[in-house]
Amino acid sequence: MTDEPIRRYTCDLAIIGAGLAGLASALRATELGLRVLVFEKNIEQQYLCNSRLTGGIFHLALSSIEDSAQVIASRIQAVTDNTAQQDLSQAVAQDALRLVRWLEQQGIRFMRSGPEPWHTFTLSPPSLPQIGRNWSGRAGDVMLRTLEQRLTQLGGQILRGHQTESLTMDGQRCTGLRGVLSPDTVFQVQATAVVIADGGFQASMSELKKHITSQPEQLCQRNAKTGMGDGLRMAQHVGAAVTELDQFYGHVLSRDALHNDNLWPYPWADELARSGIVVNPAGRRFADEGLGGVFIANQLAKLPNPSSAFAIFDHAIWEGPGTLRTLSANPFIQRAGATIYQADTLEALASECGLPAQELVAEVLQFNEALKRKQTESLQPPRSSGKFIPWPIMQAPFYAMPIVAGITYTMGGIRIDKDSRVLDTAGQPIAGCYAAGSCTGGLEGGPRAGYTGGLMKAGITGLRAGEHAARQLALRNTSPTNIRLEPA
Ligand SMILES: Cc1cc2nc3c(=O)[nH]c(=O)nc-3n(C[C@H](O)[C@H](O)[C@H](O)COP(=O)(O)OP(=O)(O)OC[C@H]3O[C@@H](n4cnc5c(N)ncnc54)[C@H](O)[C@@H]3O)c2cc1C
Repeated sequence: MTDEPIRRYTCDLAIIGAGLAGLASALRATELGLRVLVFEKNIEQQYLCNSRLTGGIFHLALSSIEDSAQVIASRIQAVTDNTAQQDLSQAVAQDALRLVRWLEQQGIRFMRSGPEPWHTFTLSPPSLPQIGRNWSGRAGDVMLRTLEQRLTQLGGQILRGHQTESLTMDGQRCTGLRGVLSPDTVFQVQATAVVIADGGFQASMSELKKHITSQPEQLCQRNAKTGMGDGLRMAQHVGAAVTELDQFYGHVLSRDALHNDNLWPYPWADELARSGIVVNPAGRRFADEGLGGVFIANQLAKLPNPSSAFAIFDHAIWEGPGTLRTLSANPFIQRAGATIYQADTLEALASECGLPAQELVAEVLQFNEALKRKQTESLQPPRSSGKFIPWPIMQAPFYAMPIVAGITYTMGGIRIDKDSRVLDTAGQPIAGCYAAGSCTGGLEGGPRAGYTGGLMKAGITGLRAGEHAARQLALRNTSPTNIRLEPA
C-alpha cells in the first residue's frame, strides 16, 4: 500500500518526451483524431532538449533530401556500411520531403543556410553561426513552440514536470505508463498506445559506461543533458530488442570544452583533426582521421582516457581547412578560450604539450612520407583519403590542440520497424508500443559511425508512430476516448 497521491490520466496515445519526435507523433495523431497527451519531464516553459538546441539542418547523410528515395536510401546504406535496417532507410528516404512539407503546413519556416544541397531545409531563423547556446527565439525553439501551439489548438497537450518511469502492460499489450510528478506525487496513464520519445542515453553516465566509454565523465556533453536512457530501460523491461549501442553522433571539441561552456556545441575542431593527425598520450595515431570528425569522436571515446589526445597540425592546415565553414576553428576556437600549443619545431611542440618528442616526430615523419608516396592506407592505423584529404604536416609553426569527444546523441537504441513499432527480441511488434527519435536505433552507426541525421530521424519516426497508432485505433473500431484529467 502507498499513500502517495496518484494523478490519473486517460488518453488514446500517451507520449514520453516533447522533443521533435514526441511532438511530431503527438500532432500527427491529433490531426488524425486521437486524443493525445505528451508527458515531458522538464518543468520549464522552454524546457531544454536536443530539439531545442539543434543546429536545425534537415538532411539525410549530409546530402539533399530532394533526391529520389532510392538514391537517398542507398546513401544511408553506404554511410552505415549496410548496417542500417533496410526498411528504416527506405522509410526515411520516402518521407523526407513529406516531413518538411508537413512541418511547413504547421507553420515552420525553412531557409537555405549554405551552398550545399543538404543546406536547403534549415530551420529559420537559424541557430548556427553563434558561439554558445543562444537558442531562444531561434531554430529549434521556434519549431517546438510552433508545434506545441498547433497541438494545443487541436486539443492535445504537453504536461510538463511529468517524468515517466515505467510502461504498464496488460499481457503482451502496452496499455499505459507510470511516473513521478513531484517527490510526493505519482501519475498513471491509461492509453491505447504509448510512444517512447525520450531522446537517447547520451547523458546517462551508467549507460555510457556500459556501451560507449570506460570514462563517461571525460566526454563533453554536447547536448541538452536530458537524454538519460529512461526509454531504453523501459522498453527493455517489457521485452524490446535493442540495436548496437556503441556509436554516437558527435564532434571533436577542444578539451577545454569540459569546463568552458563557450566551447560547445561550436566551434568544433573536426577540420583540424581530419586534415592533420590525432595522437594519444604516447604520441601515436589511433584513428583513421580521413573518416571525419564523427568517427574520430567515437575513437576518442574508446581511448582509456578519452580526454588525453591531441590534434597535431601545421600552419598550412590552420590557415586552410582550419578556416573552413561558418564559425571555423581558426579563429573562433581560440577566441572562445581553447588551448592551442604552438612551436617552430615538432620537438619543441612536444615539450610544450607534454608529448614524448621522439615518438611524435617519428609519427609525423612517417605520416608525411606515406602521404608523399600516396601510401597512407598502409599506415597503422590506415589513413583513408577518399572522404577527407590528408595534408602534410611540414610548415612551421606547428600546433597541438588538446581535444575531447563531444557527444550529441546516441545512434543505437530501441529496435523499431518502419511504422516505429517497438520490436521484441523475436522481431515481433510489442502491441501498443512505439518509439521515435534518438532513443531508437537501426538507422545510423556501423563500423565508421555513419551519421544519417537526428532531425529527420526524429520527425519521420514520430510521424509514422502517430499515423500507425491512429490506423490501429480505427481498425480496433474503438472510438477515441476523451482525455480525462483527474487531479488527485
Ligand atoms: C547542438 C546540436 C546540434 C544539432 N544539429 C543538428 C542538425 O543540424 N541536423 C540534424 O539532423 N540533427 C541535429 N542535431 C540532433 C537533433 O537535434 C536531435 O537528434 C533531435 O532533435 C532529437 O529529437 P528527439 O525528439 O528524439 O529528442 P529530444 O529533442 O532530446 O527530446 C526528448 C525529450 O524527452 C524528454 N524526456 C527524457 N526522459 C524523459 C522521461 N523519463 N519522461 C518524460 N520526458 C522525458 C526530454 O526532457 C526531452 O524534452 C543536433 C543536436 C544538437 C544538440
